[in-house]
Amino acid sequence: MKNHKFNTLIETLSELPTVGKKSASRFAYHLIFKDSFLALKLAHNIEDAINNVKKCGVCQGISESEICYICLDSSRDNEKLCIVSSPQDILIFEENKLYDGKYFVIEDLESFDEHKLKNLVLSGVNELIFALEHSIGNDALILYIEDKLKDHNLTFTKLAQGIPSGMSLQNIDIVSLNKAILQRTKT
Ligand SMILES: [Zn+2]
Repeated sequence: MKNHKFNTLIETLSELPTVGKKSASRFAYHLIFKDSFLALKLAHNIEDAINNVKKCGVCQGISESEICYICLDSSRDNEKLCIVSSPQDILIFEENKLYDGKYFVIEDLESFDEHKLKNLVLSGVNELIFALEHSIGNDALILYIEDKLKDHNLTFTKLAQGIPSGMSLQNIDIVSLNKAILQRTKT
């Protein structure tokens, strides 16, 4: 087969989310002919991350130990717990210092670990903040969680209006996100 190895590389790259065949082909050409040092660094970093990065056993965020540095940080506000739909959302809040409480990731209902959330709530949480994009699915999720935790005397809040439906936190500008969390409202 002609250029079998090069074509396999393109096909593999095109399996990445948002990467089409055209970009995959451009990446492959760049990695092999323009910057093979970058290519090897990338291969090494991917392997290193796969072997060392995991999900935090408490909040399900990204961690390199059983429990992440945020969950272990005793200087944070333990009374606030922010529910996000992906570990990357935590990075946005952290990189921009928008929030000083704890987090809990719920990517979908199937992987949602109710027991872990209840344990966290029992550690002294009094406000649960839903930092989720507007969608019918998330509205249902919020109702579901509120029902599960109704006996814990919590205040349930969500980000202020202004986050367009269908837009993820990762696409919102930081000023708007900061405003949304400061002006959060009761659900
Ligand atoms: Zn954690």
